[in-house]
Amino acid sequence: MALTEKETLNSPIQQLKHPLLAERNVRLWVKRDDLIHPIISGNKWRKLKYLLEDARQQGCHEVVTFGGAWSNHLLATAAACAVSGFRSTGYVRGELPENPNLSLCSLFGMNLLETSRSDYKDKTALYNRLHGKDREAYFIDEGGRSEQAVAGCAEMIGELERGFDHIFCAAGTGTTLAGLARGLQQANLNTRLHGVPVLAGGFMSEELKGLGADPRKVILHEDYHFGGYAKAPTALLSFIAEFVRDTGMLIEPVYTGKLFYAIFDLIKRGYFPEKEEILAIHTGGLFGILGKLENLRPYLNTRS
Ligand SMILES: *Cc1c(COP(=O)(O)O)cnc(C)c1O
Repeated sequence: MALTEKETLNSPIQQLKHPLLAERNVRLWVKRDDLIHPIISGNKWRKLKYLLEDARQQGCHEVVTFGGAWSNHLLATAAACAVSGFRSTGYVRGELPENPNLSLCSLFGMNLLETSRSDYKDKTALYNRLHGKDREAYFIDEGGRSEQAVAGCAEMIGELERGFDHIFCAAGTGTTLAGLARGLQQANLNTRLHGVPVLAGGFMSEELKGLGADPRKVILHEDYHFGGYAKAPTALLSFIAEFVRDTGMLIEPVYTGKLFYAIFDLIKRGYFPEKEEILAIHTGGLFGILGKLENLRPYLNTRS
C-alpha cells in the first residue's frame, strides 16, 4: 500500500481540559496526528508520503536514511517502507546500541548500520560513496528533511475546519513547521504560527529559510529545549507525569513534552489574552518515551 492512498489523514481535533485553561480562560485544542498510525505516527506519515511516492516514480526499491538510536524517523521509515514494499537501510549515528526503537526498526526489516560520528556529519558524501551508483537506492535525509516533506506537512492546514488564533508545533529539523507556514500562506490565513525548537543552538530560523519558509512569519520560543535534544531534566519530567495524569493524553520528553510545557508556561505568564484559541499539533512519536521511562520513574504516582 502506498502512503498516498489515504487521500486525507484528517486526524481528529480534540479540546483539552485542564484547570489552568479554565482559570486563564484560554482554549487549547490538539490535532491528534499521533492517532494517524501507531508507528508511522504524526508528522512522519505526512513527511514520508511524497518522498516514497517520488522514490516509486524514480523506480527505486530501497530507501536509505539516517538517524540517532532513538530516532522516530528511523522507526517510521522502517514501518512505512515495509507497508509500501521498499527495502530500507538506516545509518545510525555512532555505535549501534540494543534498544527497543532499533529492535522495532529491525522487526520492520530495516537493515541497520553503525556510522562513525564524523561520517555521519556528511550524510550526502556517505550516501554517494556507498550508494551513489545504485540506481535502486533512494536518499532520505535525517528527519525526512526535504521539499516533499514540507509539501506533505502543509496539507495539515487544509484539514482544519475552523480558525485558531495560534498554532503550536515542536521543531526538530523544522520541516513540519515550514510545512505549516506554507499551508497557512497558501490558505491566506493570518493564524500566528509558533515553533518550539527541541534542540539548543538557536539555528531554527536558518533552517526554516533553507526549507523555503519565511522565519519572520514564525514565532520561535527558543527557551524550552531544556538543555538540548533528548535532555530530560526534573522540571520537564514532572510536568509530563502530571500532564498525562490530568489529561489522559500521552506525551513524551523529546518533542511533545517540551511543546506542551512551553504552551502551559506561556499561559501561566499571561502570554495569551483571554478567550484566545490555541491549536497544538501532537506530532506523535510516542515510542520515544520508552527511552525515558527510567528517568520518569521518580515522578510516577505510586499509590501505597
Ligand atoms: C520527528 C518529530 C518531530 C520533528 O519534526 P521536524 O519536522 O523534524 O521538525 C516532532 N515531533 C515528533 C514527535 C517527532 O517524532
